[in-house]
Amino acid sequence: MSEMEVSATLEPATVPQTPTAFEDDEPPSTPRRHQAWKNVPKKQWDDWRWQMQNAVRSVRQLRTLIEFSEEELEVIGKLEAEYKVVIPPYYFSLIDPTNPKDPIRLQSVPSPLEAENPSGYELEDPLEEDKDSPVPGLTHRYPDRALLVTTPACSMYCRFCTRKRATLTRGGWDSVSHDDHRMVEYVAKHSEIRDVIVSGGDPLTLPTSKLKFFLDGLSAIPHVDVIRIGTRVPVTLPQRLYDKDLIDLLASSGKVWIQTHFNHPREITPEAKRVCNALLRAGMPVNNHSVLLQGVNDDLGTMRSLLRGLLRIKVRPYYLFHCDPVIGAGHFRTSVWKGIEIMEGLRGHMSGLGIPTYVIDSPHGGGKIPVMPNYLISAGDDAVVLRNFEGQIVRYQAQDKPATTEPTFTRGVSSLLQGTRTVIIPEGNERMARRKQRALGEAMGSSCGGGSAPSHPELAPSQPKQPLLELGLRNPVKRRRKVAALAD
Ligand code: SF4
Repeated sequence: MSEMEVSATLEPATVPQTPTAFEDDEPPSTPRRHQAWKNVPKKQWDDWRWQMQNAVRSVRQLRTLIEFSEEELEVIGKLEAEYKVVIPPYYFSLIDPTNPKDPIRLQSVPSPLEAENPSGYELEDPLEEDKDSPVPGLTHRYPDRALLVTTPACSMYCRFCTRKRATLTRGGWDSVSHDDHRMVEYVAKHSEIRDVIVSGGDPLTLPTSKLKFFLDGLSAIPHVDVIRIGTRVPVTLPQRLYDKDLIDLLASSGKVWIQTHFNHPREITPEAKRVCNALLRAGMPVNNHSVLLQGVNDDLGTMRSLLRGLLRIKVRPYYLFHCDPVIGAGHFRTSVWKGIEIMEGLRGHMSGLGIPTYVIDSPHGGGKIPVMPNYLISAGDDAVVLRNFEGQIVRYQAQDKPATTEPTFTRGVSSLLQGTRTVIIPEGNERMARRKQRALGEAMGSSCGGGSAPSHPELAPSQPKQPLLELGLRNPVKRRRKVAALAD
């Protein structure tokens, strides 16, 4: 049994009152405590063992902490026999108890919607990990990577978990068939494996000796360059990483990267910041993946706040996963268009460091497929036509070679391919307005200084069109004349 698999020993003493207002501040937000635990001494609160011993593990406990309708209680009461609930007081305190649609509550508290699967599309093992498993517990899908599922335990059970069959489902983990030695041996025998993802469940819930076994075994394999520890502990139980010995153990490998999982800006707390900082200072890169979840982060404002908050604590957004079609998680799934809409609002609007790759994990074990808005509008032999986040459409010539297309009179996007135009700028473009304003300022300055000609080309008296100059092409004179004549 995992160290984390301990039963609750403390029932909340009283039904809590509403805590302080729950407006979301810019992350990292202020520390929070639910009323039920407001008198717990800091020393205990900061002890991960206390957090796990006092985790909310039953519907009976839940109903003393937040409100449910009778109908909800009836359904989630039945679901309890099938799926586990574990929510440490720390993570539970991030929930606004007055809001039934609170994004932290949606992720952690069972919902009657988990009993539904209207399309029948949702599956136990939507990524077919078990079919790509040469050794029980190990998935070998991509040539150079292997996934090791090392434990069914997590510090908090996410209601949308892709691996629900092993984590949330009671009795879903066949521990006898998961042979730790065979998994490490398999990696050692396959020299093509460079990157090992140690996941679960959550490997940071493993007893330290078991975690050390995996880290030592994998670190000693010369062809393994990267050991990724997939963990939600920085998000749901940061107290576990207050333990310097654990940080030292992870760092001792020299190959560990942390792959964590923040989904909402409110999860970026001072406590989470502290442990991410400790991991970074110990030399381990910290990357994040989020899952696009209806009601949690499926709007642009929330997603931007989450990604900016991650950058603020120096955690690199890596993937945004479309929610997998796992049984009981249908209510979390959005359209792909929603994901594209959000991605459209990121590129160009915020630092590229903060932009994750939006991916769909393909059915039939096809792996991650990136999806994004279309930036390539058209293409010809000589150039492609691209659009940027502002809607500016440009001709782009990737190679430095003479044009092969004989320019022909045409309009719009086609004129960009023909090379008779270089750019189409949308009306009211703010950047162009700024440029013009600056140019105007420069011109005013110049004229005050003695009436010399405007220095900015956009303010210069209209010139004959010079497409070749704009294009930067080295074309013959004849072509230049023709292009100039055709330019519209
Ligand atoms: S922490 Fe990860 S493995 Fe555990 S329930 Fe959440 S998503 Fe699943």
